[in-house]
Amino acid sequence: MRHKFYLETPIYQSHKLFNEQPKNVFYKMDCYQPTNSFKIRGMEELCRHHIGEGKTKFVSSSGGNAGYSLAYVGKQLGVSVKVVVPSTTTKFMIDKIKDLGAKVEVHGNVWDEAHQYALKSAAQEDAVYVSPFDDPLLWKGHASIIDECAQQMEQPDTVIVSVGGGGLLCGVLEGMKKNGWTNTQVITTETTGAASFYESYQANKIVELKEIKTIATSLGAKKITTKALELAKEFTIKPVKVSDATALKASFDFLNEKSVLVEPACGAAISVPYFHPELLAESNNILVIVCGGANTEFNYLYQHFK
Ligand SMILES: *Cc1c(COP(=O)(O)O)cnc(C)c1O
Repeated sequence: MRHKFYLETPIYQSHKLFNEQPKNVFYKMDCYQPTNSFKIRGMEELCRHHIGEGKTKFVSSSGGNAGYSLAYVGKQLGVSVKVVVPSTTTKFMIDKIKDLGAKVEVHGNVWDEAHQYALKSAAQEDAVYVSPFDDPLLWKGHASIIDECAQQMEQPDTVIVSVGGGGLLCGVLEGMKKNGWTNTQVITTETTGAASFYESYQANKIVELKEIKTIATSLGAKKITTKALELAKEFTIKPVKVSDATALKASFDFLNEKSVLVEPACGAAISVPYFHPELLAESNNILVIVCGGANTEFNYLYQHFK
């Protein structure tokens, strides 16, 4: 078997929740990836594919976990990575990406401006443009999460997963199909200021949000990929919105429970078994995708939490 850069992550049961509820809540700990998020799975799949086609240059427009994971995989595979970010991206994240040898260019004030520039720049340099969530290669890579879970546990009654642009959701649903988990219910989580999947699912068509207003920046896509809605039709889906405060509190409680810091984007998923057990009334075995996140400066979170 070829050497992989992403890890097979463990599943930990929540003994705390078992004692309180009692239910079997399983955490798939993708926060333990070398880049602290699941994004490395898709990025590895994507990079290997394009390198196989002779490509050696990659350009992304995500100053978050997608750009960070691309930079990591690019460094391991010896290809050039450029990440175009808007001026709102923190120095904290820019430094992390630069530490991996990737070039960072600041362009525009919002993501869309960085994105448009990255598209142009990729075309000019004959580089591959890498979307943070909208690419079948990413979904294929992300699906490995469920392949692993299918080896590690019995089929759960419910899977809980956070949604930004829907790349993780597509990967999880593809993995569930592949492993025969089609009658498992899926709860999607978003914060109220970034509920693009929630709105689109209710309207049964892609709805573009006017603005993004959330501390969970990794969920901040105005528009989800259409594939997420298509795949969702094949499953029983319960879309859930939680407040920023709830997502943040879940991140802190999870830090206390498992001694690992995850972004509020991930806290949103964990908040369901913590604070909304009523949504799990009919489930005994619950799998939470702990999607992780490296874009969390502790001081920043702590100041919002206090
Ligand atoms: C990217 C990301 C998400 C959202 O994933 P999408 O594929 O955009 O839906 C959620 N949590 C974390 C930590 C992420 O990095």
